[in-house]
Amino acid sequence: MSTPSPTEITAYELVSGLEIHVQLNTKSKIFSGDSASFGASPNAHISTVSLALPGALPKLNKEVIEKAVRIGLALNCEINQHNFFDRKNYFYADLPKGYQITQDNSPICKNGFVIVTLANGQERRIGINRIHLEEDAGKSMHDQDAHYSFVDLNRAGVPLIEIVTEPDIRSAEEASVLLNEIRKLVRFLDVSDGNMEEGSLRCDANISIRPAGSSDYGTRCEVKNLNSMKHVRRAIEFEFDRQIGIIEKGSEIIQSTLNFDAEKGTTSPMRTKEEANDYRYFPDPDLPPIYIDDHWLAQIRSAMPKLPNVIAQELMADFAISAAEASLLAEDPTLLHYLGSAKTMIDRPKSLINWLIGPIRALLSDKAIGIDQFFVAPFKMAEIINLVDKKKISQNNALQTLIPALENEPERDVLELANQLDLLIVADQQAFEEQINAVLQKYEPQVQAYKAGKKGVLGLFVGEVMKLVQGKADAKKISDQIIEKLK
Ligand code: ADP
Ligand code: MG
Repeated sequence: MSTPSPTEITAYELVSGLEIHVQLNTKSKIFSGDSASFGASPNAHISTVSLALPGALPKLNKEVIEKAVRIGLALNCEINQHNFFDRKNYFYADLPKGYQITQDNSPICKNGFVIVTLANGQERRIGINRIHLEEDAGKSMHDQDAHYSFVDLNRAGVPLIEIVTEPDIRSAEEASVLLNEIRKLVRFLDVSDGNMEEGSLRCDANISIRPAGSSDYGTRCEVKNLNSMKHVRRAIEFEFDRQIGIIEKGSEIIQSTLNFDAEKGTTSPMRTKEEANDYRYFPDPDLPPIYIDDHWLAQIRSAMPKLPNVIAQELMADFAISAAEASLLAEDPTLLHYLGSAKTMIDRPKSLINWLIGPIRALLSDKAIGIDQFFVAPFKMAEIINLVDKKKISQNNALQTLIPALENEPERDVLELANQLDLLIVADQQAFEEQINAVLQKYEPQVQAYKAGKKGVLGLFVGEVMKLVQGKADAKKISDQIIEKLK
């Protein structure tokens, strides 16, 4: 396809691919027993391996392989069973070995894809080129002292995977939705905490533009170290406009590595020295190849949980709920577990879903607790919902009085407690004759309006009666009774 000259171009298309770095949440580092946890005082987690003392030998933490394979399977990748590690040579103060151990041409996973759903409901398929294993470097700090730079090697040797997508991303929204999807998956699979603020998840965005409709690729620029969804979006939007500006001027894009300035929202070139890549990769002679045999692979595969998108499909079929409701539930394993326990006791499954994504979620977020800390056991919650559905207690009384009372006495029998609190709806509706009459008397003008055809005031009458009887009536029946009376 021939590229039109800039003056003929009416619209440009964004092309982007992400390189996503994910810190794995193993207890110890990838090649030593040093703790991999975040937040310790500087240089607390450094044995001879992290310090790269002469003679110190790396030894692979096998859990790293399993976590990488888990995410690879979730991203529909082929798993490479013959793995070895390479040395990527460069000098920096936070890299005492003088090389980073990584995988150059033998990534552990390749040729996958992920389907993401955009805000408008459109589905997009983003190819995964590869996932490789590597170790993180230490951290240099240049802002702690006027005369010296400091180095903290706690992070040196923390396991990382790098997920490299195909250049299939066509908008800033797609990039952030994809990153969000990856974050959800690594958390769901217990591969990483996915915490962007602490740097457990960060990404480089490769960005180019081309005339809309073209199938050629333009020259790309790479924006390094984006550490929030918002930065990814803003960096891509800025770069898209910047590159269009250059092309419209009749100039050419020069392939380069860029920094993103979050305050200004702009990108700027890194010093060229920082991007001079001459890594002289070669296989690391200290580490034997690692073969993932069929048995091991099968074991990892069979230990995979059902993925959120599969669970969401099942929930939609089981409970006749929307895709949005289903994915809300499917992403939260504790909520799913609660749902599973309550489900066996519930009369109307749809009610359970409504309660879980409505009032119960609101209540939990109010108390800032997870559902695993909720004081109402799943089977008790099912009982409460059944009582509401059977019109034995109003939803309002269940939420405002019964559930709060259970917080103090979580072991109490639900029906007994509701009875003691005098919350049970009185079966004999004639019992409320008096209250209905009182309300109709009080609202005489509205009664006239109703009789003249303004049926909307019925809600007012019902609401007032329900208040008088403290919610212990079936609102539907009260409404019927009033209609009957006003005929
Ligand atoms: P390299 O090995 O030189 O870093 P890769 O082929 O591994 O290059 O690509 C790195 C990243 O850049 C990938 O995420 C890929 O999707 C993306 N990419 C490649 N070509 C383009 C392009 N023309 N425009 C935008 N992104 C691109
Ligand atoms: Mg690359």
